[in-house]
Amino acid sequence: MALRHALMIDPAPEGEVRGDFSDTFTALDPAAPALTVGELSTQRGDGVFESIGVIDGHPQEVAAHLDRLAHSARLCELPAPNLAQWRAAVGLAAAACGAGESVIKLILSRGVEHGPAPTAWVTAAEASDFRRARSAGIRVVTLDRGYPLDVPARAPWLLLGAKTLSYAVNMAALREARRRGADDAIFLTTDGFVLEAPTASLILRRGDTFVTPAPTAGILHGTTQLSLFEHLEARGFAALYETVPAASLATADAAWLVSSVRLAAPITAIDDVPLAQDAAFTASLNDYLLTPRD
Ligand code: PLP
Repeated sequence: MALRHALMIDPAPEGEVRGDFSDTFTALDPAAPALTVGELSTQRGDGVFESIGVIDGHPQEVAAHLDRLAHSARLCELPAPNLAQWRAAVGLAAAACGAGESVIKLILSRGVEHGPAPTAWVTAAEASDFRRARSAGIRVVTLDRGYPLDVPARAPWLLLGAKTLSYAVNMAALREARRRGADDAIFLTTDGFVLEAPTASLILRRGDTFVTPAPTAGILHGTTQLSLFEHLEARGFAALYETVPAASLATADAAWLVSSVRLAAPITAIDDVPLAQDAAFTASLNDYLLTPRD
């Protein structure tokens, strides 16, 4: 997708108040090179990022994304981001987005080795067209994530729960899903519990109760799932975080993969077992997700 806007940020210390921070931003030519060859941390994936959905120029759930950026930075022992500065950068990026759906990316990497500060930048681009996934749905396969449920507490250096730049495993899982004739994947622990998709959270429906795997399982706490849980509770449904055994995938009444840019994609089959569809209900979720949300 063509970038519409790119901005380099000179990161201000957390808590520093400084007008609109415009003196800390450098507009970049989105088509030109911007990082130095010595920018090793980004090459190593040693940094964190966020992808924010934008609807008609309105960036969605900015506070939740900035909270998660700060959480990821904390887990990775990066300097705490100045959230007012990032908010100002998101505002400039959103102003560069036209009508329709766009995506703003926030990137914070450890920076040049022995350098003075992290490298930070923001981009805005037109979003892919996900209308088909939202209405026709997606087929998913389950894939082994290669570790048991208790690994986040035992091995915090795996940085599970941080949205790091290291997405090579997630991209490999998507390629494997496609090789198996599916559109997407759901990761399972080696001891048989459900985690998340490579780029989305999973929500299951059981009657009038909606369930998602608890973020303590070392998965990302999805901003879309959080927002949908608020919406579902406001509609009178129960919305719960649980430890979800893999066996409960087959007994769900419905399921969705949800994320900031694709929004709610109904799952039509898991490992070739078909799932029931409620097109009107899914449309109501996506209508909600497409309205401006703060
Ligand atoms: N889990 C993973 C691994 C992701 O990469 C993403 C989004 O990219 C999500 C969950 C969903 O997060 P959000 O709803 O904030 O986009």
